[in-house]
Amino acid sequence: MDNVNKLIELLENSDNIVFFGGAGVSTESGIPDFRSAEGLYQMGNRIPPEVILSHDFFYRHTKEFYDFYFKHMIYPDVLPNATHILLAKLEQLGKLKAVVTQNIDGLHQRAGSKAVFEMHGTVNRYICLDCNRKCDLNFAHSSYQKSKDVPRCQCGGVLKPDVVLYGEALDQAVIEQSAKAIAEAEVLIVAGSSLVVYPAAGFINYYHGNKLVLINAEATAYDKNANLHFKCRLKEVVEPVLEYFSK
Ligand code: NAD
Ligand code: ZN
Repeated sequence: MDNVNKLIELLENSDNIVFFGGAGVSTESGIPDFRSAEGLYQMGNRIPPEVILSHDFFYRHTKEFYDFYFKHMIYPDVLPNATHILLAKLEQLGKLKAVVTQNIDGLHQRAGSKAVFEMHGTVNRYICLDCNRKCDLNFAHSSYQKSKDVPRCQCGGVLKPDVVLYGEALDQAVIEQSAKAIAEAEVLIVAGSSLVVYPAAGFINYYHGNKLVLINAEATAYDKNANLHFKCRLKEVVEPVLEYFSK
């Protein structure tokens, strides 16, 4: 049996699947990741992305932060791809318990997934640093576009994205829910992540089962732990699996 059929069999026989993903899940929607050849790290930015997207840089150079952020992190026209759609489908079928994602693009929810734990937050929410009022991406983006300056709340306060910046701690509730889902999973699918960003990557160590599926275009430090390993683009695996579960 080839590996795609083995994966279908694993998914068919489980009602406790958990997915752990990274930026590679959204590249097929047109959002660049960080570490691929086409990723943000190769785009020749003067200051490395992890410096710009850090807590200190946000407070010290808020305008420069937002110029980078709206140019490179926000893609208003992208759509969920086959991976997002498959995961929503598996949840609907009662097979998948949670999506734990390092992504901040909100595409899992757009595809219809409900149990999504966003370890690094989301570009879809903003909070005012003065009055704590929350607003959405549309509000923040249009404030930035109109003023050609940092996005501001109705009260005039500066808005901060509800994204975990480098140098910031993960949200405690999200940590606990993600760890629990992974620890209790029967099948864990890890995909589209270089697995080098900690503490997020370390969460897969909570898994103690023997059905670890790893799908990534490049090698990772966890390849040897996988029970089923695909070193390829996600669509090559996901499209036939989606076709099977859409019948
Ligand atoms: P990464 O860029 O470090 O690694 C992505 C991995 O996915 C790479 O190993 C690459 O080979 C693989 N990949 C890319 N496209 C693929 C495809 N179509 N099929 C299979 N594999 C593919 O990403 P990371 O591990 O998630 O860490 C980067 C950090 O950047 C995360 O914290 C994430 O929050 C953030 N980020 C998020 C987005 C987003 O929300 N879409 C985009 C860029 C970065
Ligand atoms: Zn305010």
